[in-house]
Amino acid sequence: MMSQGLVTMSYVAASILFILSLSGLSDQETARKGNYYGMAGMAIAIIATILSDSVNSYVVLIIALMIGGFIGTKAAIKVEMTQMPELVALMHSLVGMAAILVGYANFSDSSNGLEGVEKTIHEVEIYIGIFIGAVTFSGSVIAFGKLCGKIDGKPVLLPGRHFLNLALLIATIWLGNTFLSGAEVGGGTFSLIIMTLIALAFGVHMVMAIGGADMPVVVSMLNSYSGWAAAATGFMLSNDLLIVTGALVGSSGAILSYIMCRAMNRNFLSVIAGGFGSSSGEAAAVEGDIAPIDIEETAKLLSEAKNIMIIPGYGMAVAQAQHTVNGITKLLRAKDKNVRFAIHPVAGRMPGHMNVLLAEAKVPYDIVYEMDEINEDFPNIDVSIVIGANDIVNPSALDDPNSPIAGMPVIECWKSATTIVLKRSMAAGYAGVGNPLFVHENTRMLFGDANDSMQAVLKALNT
Ligand code: NDP
Repeated sequence: MMSQGLVTMSYVAASILFILSLSGLSDQETARKGNYYGMAGMAIAIIATILSDSVNSYVVLIIALMIGGFIGTKAAIKVEMTQMPELVALMHSLVGMAAILVGYANFSDSSNGLEGVEKTIHEVEIYIGIFIGAVTFSGSVIAFGKLCGKIDGKPVLLPGRHFLNLALLIATIWLGNTFLSGAEVGGGTFSLIIMTLIALAFGVHMVMAIGGADMPVVVSMLNSYSGWAAAATGFMLSNDLLIVTGALVGSSGAILSYIMCRAMNRNFLSVIAGGFGSSSGEAAAVEGDIAPIDIEETAKLLSEAKNIMIIPGYGMAVAQAQHTVNGITKLLRAKDKNVRFAIHPVAGRMPGHMNVLLAEAKVPYDIVYEMDEINEDFPNIDVSIVIGANDIVNPSALDDPNSPIAGMPVIECWKSATTIVLKRSMAAGYAGVGNPLFVHENTRMLFGDANDSMQAVLKALNT
């Protein structure tokens, strides 16, 4: 058993490590260190909690840790890099579920000895904690379905949805009032259950109403909600570390949502209200001839080019082409070519997805640029290679006001002398929109799996 003072000191140390972890994660070069800080902080937090006075049944705790640890380890080993976003969404749902369960456990525990104002404050914590937990849980389950394709990515827009949301919110506040007055006399269960059902429905409705291309904002928003749900759990359990950690995750997730909104030129409130990306008109059909290119021609164009830009997208993650791409990059740079990467903030299926893949393949950080830093440079580029990207290089976002992705800034690769697009077919990307880039006069289509194509190009460049 640890003394309370030592537990508090350990919690302070863990909080500091979590803050260092977040600051480390804000930059690619320090991200690995940031992860180590986070792991160390979590290890200290778990050990201090296990050894604190609040734990009195080690058998149950060890069984729970073993089951949770087993499932977590198995999932982490099995998960493909492409399934990471949906795994994260599923993890968020567990945080939400934990907040609901802790809330109900706290509510049914009458032995806390709280009286008067303290009791009311505790009940408010329970009510808000369960509400946030339920919205996080159901919203994350729907996000999981949308990310793994089990639920259609198109927005489901119920008639009068804004009024419906408002009505649900008013009902939640009214039920909160009856819960607090009912709880005073030992009741309130009914209000709590109805509010939980409303919050679950609210989470489903909110995420179902958000269209495909706006999903990044939802992912980061649910990340933030899961933090607030953890903080609410911390209040219910009077655990300071959980409050601090939850608030850190909640606020960093909120900042990320803001960054995502800015990257997509969306208004946060409009995205949350749902259906922002769904314009009333029909998106223009894509018409024109496709100009295919083969491996030899691709290698020839690259050999002759001086300035080359690589634009990775979700397909690079599917094909796991990052190592081959790094091989080509090294070879071209050795031939004195200026090879750079342009990264769209919502490329892939989770924030920072492309940066993680490129870091894994050891692509040097100093040739990886954000879209904003590099977009103006495309008129000077000889060859742009789009590797399994689609929505993030779709010019209709800028030209077609009826496109579901209208207004979203995109990587303007069509301004380079030649753009080579690697993909397997003419299928649409995540937002389900046709892409005029594929029929642009400067575009050449290299069909096939991105890794197979890149390997063949590497071989051709070597001979
Ligand atoms: P897209 O989903 O728009 O396009 C990916 C393309 O990759 C597809 O057109 C597909 O075409 C191609 N592809 C798939 N597998 C392979 C393969 N093995 N080899 C070659 N090509 C392949 O991805 P983008 O990265 O361009 O855009 C991201 C989209 O995801 C945006 O709409 C964004 O809003 C959304 N999103 C992003 C999130 C984030 O946090 N980053 C979260 C949730 C959604 P084909 O099948 O013909 O090969």
